[in-house]
Amino acid sequence: AKADGGNQYAFYVHSMSMQALDSLRMEGALRRALERDEFRLHYQPQVDIATGAVVGVEALLRWQPQLGPMVPPGDFIPIAEQTGLIVPIGDWVLATACAQQKAWRDAGLPPLTVSVNLSARQFQHRDLVELVARLVRETGCDPACLALEITETAVMENPQAAVAIFRQLNEMGVQLAIDDFGTGYSSLAYLKRFPIDSLKIDRSFVSDITHDADDAAIVHSVIALAHSMNLKVVAEGVEDARQLQFLREHGCDQMQGYYVSRPVPAAGIEELLRR
Ligand code: C2E
Ligand code: CA
Ligand code: CA
Ligand code: CA
Repeated sequence: AKADGGNQYAFYVHSMSMQALDSLRMEGALRRALERDEFRLHYQPQVDIATGAVVGVEALLRWQPQLGPMVPPGDFIPIAEQTGLIVPIGDWVLATACAQQKAWRDAGLPPLTVSVNLSARQFQHRDLVELVARLVRETGCDPACLALEITETAVMENPQAAVAIFRQLNEMGVQLAIDDFGTGYSSLAYLKRFPIDSLKIDRSFVSDITHDADDAAIVHSVIALAHSMNLKVVAEGVEDARQLQFLREHGCDQMQGYYVSRPVPAAGIEELLRR
């Protein structure tokens, strides 16, 4: 038994250091990825449900190493957040999204709101307001067509700081959206203090609206309450016609999801809009 215990201990230490090593390796790889320009943005169209027009896109980060397959954000963003690398990576995302929005405007495309995801870390440990102001100046993008998405959970980590930052961004004319709404513990009554423009209903509710009466009721009442507070509602993860039909019947404003398009490179958005 003693020997066994010893082995278990050795195994435990070994697996812990393997984990630490993995995350160190990953950190190094992410640093090099930034230097080598291996990050890309894909864009998923956001559609006005009443008119069917593409009115915006959400920018979603991809890592394409020089060798090997594309890495989805779920596999590296948590480590980027732990190591703080999400800050320089997030700066790159914002700058690239702003430049893309300006390029689409210059190309004569209909105006598109470009939404960018912000992590809690970027939101808290940084003069975000100044960065956004500088990027708007430098890229010449339209702040009214820039939307920042922050999860409900990130906002609730420090609501007072969030209110102050939101006010300043709102004054610059930038749109603000609460992401993954419904997965945290905030209430709409509480969110009323924040100068936000829209709520994004999390995919976990949308995927069951046509099967699960509870989810249907939640989505229905979130839309009604949001509208009573003059907030726009965006449904994420719409995958079929019946889900879209439900959302249309309940007056949801916008939707995005595989039913319309997966996230695609910028050229794919141009193609979609020309059709
Ligand atoms: P999110 O912000 O909730 O983004 C929506 C995710 O749902 C995206 O996954 C998108 O590809 C996926 N999706 C969209 N429509 C559908 C659908 O109909 N069905 C299904 N099954 N999935 C759908 P993705 O691109 O893998 O991103 C995952 C998460 O990574 C994002 O969730 C966001 O939290 C984070 N993320 C992505 N890009 C960035 C970024 O630039 N910065 C930060 N901080 N986080 C990012
Ligand atoms: Ca998002
Ligand atoms: Ca989301
Ligand atoms: Ca999500």
